[in-house]
Amino acid sequence: MPPEKLHWAHLYEEVVTSGLCTGCSACVVVCPYDVLGYDDGDGRYKPFHVDADGGTDNCTHGVKGCTLCTRACPRFRTWEPEIEQHLFGRARTDDEVSGIARHTILARATDPEVLGAGQDGGFVSALLIWALEHDVVDAALVSALEGDGSTWKAVPTVARNRTDVLATAGSRYTYSANPMAYAEAIESGAERIALVGMGCQASAPPVMSARKAGKVARRFSLSIGLLCSKTFDDAIFPELFEARYGLARQDIAKMNIKGVFQIWTHDGGYHEVPLKEAHEFTRQGCLSCPDFAAEHADIATGGIGAFNDWTLTVIRTERGHELFDAMVAGGAVEVRPADDDPGAVALLHRLSRVSRRRWPSTAVPMPGRLPTST
Ligand SMILES: Cc1cc2nc3c(=O)[nH]c(=O)nc-3n(C[C@H](O)[C@H](O)[C@H](O)COP(=O)(O)OP(=O)(O)OC[C@H]3O[C@@H](n4cnc5c(N)ncnc54)[C@H](O)[C@@H]3O)c2cc1C
Ligand code: SF4
Ligand code: SF4
Repeated sequence: MPPEKLHWAHLYEEVVTSGLCTGCSACVVVCPYDVLGYDDGDGRYKPFHVDADGGTDNCTHGVKGCTLCTRACPRFRTWEPEIEQHLFGRARTDDEVSGIARHTILARATDPEVLGAGQDGGFVSALLIWALEHDVVDAALVSALEGDGSTWKAVPTVARNRTDVLATAGSRYTYSANPMAYAEAIESGAERIALVGMGCQASAPPVMSARKAGKVARRFSLSIGLLCSKTFDDAIFPELFEARYGLARQDIAKMNIKGVFQIWTHDGGYHEVPLKEAHEFTRQGCLSCPDFAAEHADIATGGIGAFNDWTLTVIRTERGHELFDAMVAGGAVEVRPADDDPGAVALLHRLSRVSRRRWPSTAVPMPGRLPTST
């Protein structure tokens, strides 16, 4: 029997329509025939197949042997053990509930401008600036706010230098499918690309690499993860912040989540919105996501813990470790032990455990997935 050719028809049935699809957009980016599109209207955030080329649920190129979309999908079949074997040479143990890590540490940018622009310790921005200025990558796929920022619509974009990185620093809590900026990056000649994204996106480069998804896989040379338990539909702005709290989106200057939604307004005001009121706006693509800790990034980063201006930093791969050490040696970041904030590490594990329970028992079993009772 020839090996089964797994293509869009399989992806559509097993991931897109089954509820596993996060909307990460990796399948769209890797498609060499441009027959996949991406719908980010009205909170959908889903890939679709153009009708003219086999219908919405099949693909004429797939039928002829193209398998790239299933190779790029970080939710297709045994994605997790395949990635872990590729990155670490082994699957995680049941104890490694937050994924396989070499080192967990607190880090922050030493440059005050970078620290000030960052959401937590500005570590991600410092890392991007370092990688762009030290010939590690040519471009980074990040998230910006569209236009002048007044709509708070998060959109994928390319950062090529320090100015771009600083302009796109900080966190937005609606979805931005950062891989979608890939085409723009290669149009400008980038060959080594860093991807910044939540776990659903951070797993895309290593799954593409593990499954040999062609030149797109080779170009993704660094994956920087953001800890994440959910994103919200854009409807949260008019229907929660504005309707219930009188906070119009154009008046919002910055937001963070620290137990509550913290919202700073341009007039200097500070407001809190209870997270329990936000839950009804959870994006559908997050509901089955098992990955809080960006478990397949080279380096994962988060803001949990006692210190607001430090980034909790989980160094996972050898590549991530080398880069981190170079930044410390070069004075771009300062560090302190994670033991200074044991509560942050405990919360990292607790929130990871919560997310892993979301992986449906009807999907391909995930080694190391903790049973619902734990
Ligand atoms: C949707 C979302 C949910 C998160 N949830 C948690 C959480 O529950 N617990 C936790 O500890 N940390 C969470 N984080 C991570 C945290 O907010 C910080 O991004 C992280 O600590 C890095 O901080 P920094 O100062 O080093 O990053 P910065 O230097 O500020 O860099 C942040 C980078 O993230 C990119 N980015 C911003 N918004 C988005 C977006 N919506 N989608 C994709 N990329 C984006 C920016 O373009 C920038 O490159 C979340 C982040 C996001 C985007
Ligand atoms: S999870 Fe990502 S790669 Fe998989 S089908 Fe959805 S958008 Fe495509
Ligand atoms: S919870 Fe976060 S990591 Fe998971 S699918 Fe949603 S945005 Fe992606």
